[in-house]
Amino acid sequence: MPGDFGPQPHLDPEDWQEFRRESHRALDQMIDHLQGIREQPVWQPAPAAVLQKFESALPHEPGDLGAVVDQFNALIKPYSTGNLHPLFMGWVHGAGTPVGMVAEMLAAGLNANCGGRNHIGLAVERQIARWSAELFGFPERSSGLFVTGTSAANLLAMLVARNAAVDRVRERGLAQAPQLTAYASAEAHECLVRAAEIAGIGSHHLRLIPVDAEGAMRTERLADAIADDRRAGLQPFMVGGTAGTVNAGAFDDLDGLARLCRAEHLWFHVDGAFGALCALAPSLRHRLCGIERADSIAFDFHKWAHVPYDAGFLLVRDADAHRRTFSNPAAYLSRAPGGLAAGEVWPCDLGMDLSRGFRALKTWFTFQVFGADRIGACIEHTCRVARHLEALLIQSGLFEICAPVALNIVCFGLKTCGDGALNKQIVLDLHARGIAAPSTTVLGGRPVIRAAIVNHRTTEGDMEVFCEALCSAVRRVLAAQMNPPLPERGRVPMAS
Ligand SMILES: *Cc1c(COP(=O)(O)O)cnc(C)c1O
Repeated sequence: MPGDFGPQPHLDPEDWQEFRRESHRALDQMIDHLQGIREQPVWQPAPAAVLQKFESALPHEPGDLGAVVDQFNALIKPYSTGNLHPLFMGWVHGAGTPVGMVAEMLAAGLNANCGGRNHIGLAVERQIARWSAELFGFPERSSGLFVTGTSAANLLAMLVARNAAVDRVRERGLAQAPQLTAYASAEAHECLVRAAEIAGIGSHHLRLIPVDAEGAMRTERLADAIADDRRAGLQPFMVGGTAGTVNAGAFDDLDGLARLCRAEHLWFHVDGAFGALCALAPSLRHRLCGIERADSIAFDFHKWAHVPYDAGFLLVRDADAHRRTFSNPAAYLSRAPGGLAAGEVWPCDLGMDLSRGFRALKTWFTFQVFGADRIGACIEHTCRVARHLEALLIQSGLFEICAPVALNIVCFGLKTCGDGALNKQIVLDLHARGIAAPSTTVLGGRPVIRAAIVNHRTTEGDMEVFCEALCSAVRRVLAAQMNPPLPERGRVPMAS
């Protein structure tokens, strides 16, 4: 028979009917998991026997999809981060949504490469950029790009600012330029420090400006630092304001920063990883006053908007400045006037990645299904829950609040706790029991407990459960202090 080349290896199902059954079963099980998430422990560590399964060698023989799904259910699903659970309050994590899961599955089905070329994925991403511009009062033709997260978006923003500040820095590097300096508050996220390192500015040249009692940058100190650096012959080029600090949810005075940056001819960037999404919440929007005059904004759809990880975003007011930082002029030669290789600006001209997934789709689904107002209402709700927790903690008499509760983050500690070591132990106890998962952070040099209420599932009632759990953790930790476990017999306790 002509054209009969015999059997060919391929990766599609041998039996589509069976594949359909198994994949529907997997989806149903995941939906059950999400529906029953409250009944699960917040977190549990994977036992040694489970971890050992992940040390086996590369499989060469085919396995059965159903069996691998069973393995996933037994070995992976129970030992995940915990951020789906309403009593997860660690760091600032998004909780995801079932809708986002479906969108992510559809995106994987399309397997689009959103680095470039002429396909609908790029139009969806451009729409998200326009929605973001609308949200923050940016011009409609601002430039936007999905990235992994705000860490990456902050770095890209610094590179755009650097490119705008130093003539031909892409070709010549920084050697001939005066030393650049950038500014952020002492409460800014550490990824800005890392960005300064990676961008060749050097972490010492990211000046960390002191904050006020609320945790906001003291703008007058910023003006002094800029003047000092100019006098010393350095070249200030960028200010990174924070909208929502991780420690206390504090907002820098963005309006004041915008004015100062305009006067000083500095690039004004805003790290709004989660706080920028206050733009969705009518009662919180005013805190962002001035963000509409920023040159760039970094934020995450995967935090307060609960788009599944990862979905960071960079918005740049001056689209040309953005493109000039990353695009390769030669790349335009390969662009066609039509067909699949058409298009003027591709996402790969706006960042570091050539191949990139379809992050826009899950974001598009999230906004289409819930609407911006509902997401904003969930954001407002988390702030109400945080205030309820604050009230309960004060009522308990055991705890003191360690930073003003300005938003959705409550930092607190055991009263009369000395160096704060007990705070850490309380958190360890709660994690180990899988009851609740706050994290710790350091405030004024002392470890404190931090509950960041981000999850749309968390209720005021959960905070009452959390408070009871905290009180019993305190009792256990104090009891263990009074009666430390005896060293094992025959062993000399080691000095630590
Ligand atoms: C979470 C966060 C970041 C880092 O964002 P990733 O998405 O984790 O990279 C930066 N800044 C602030 C204020 C954050 O809350």
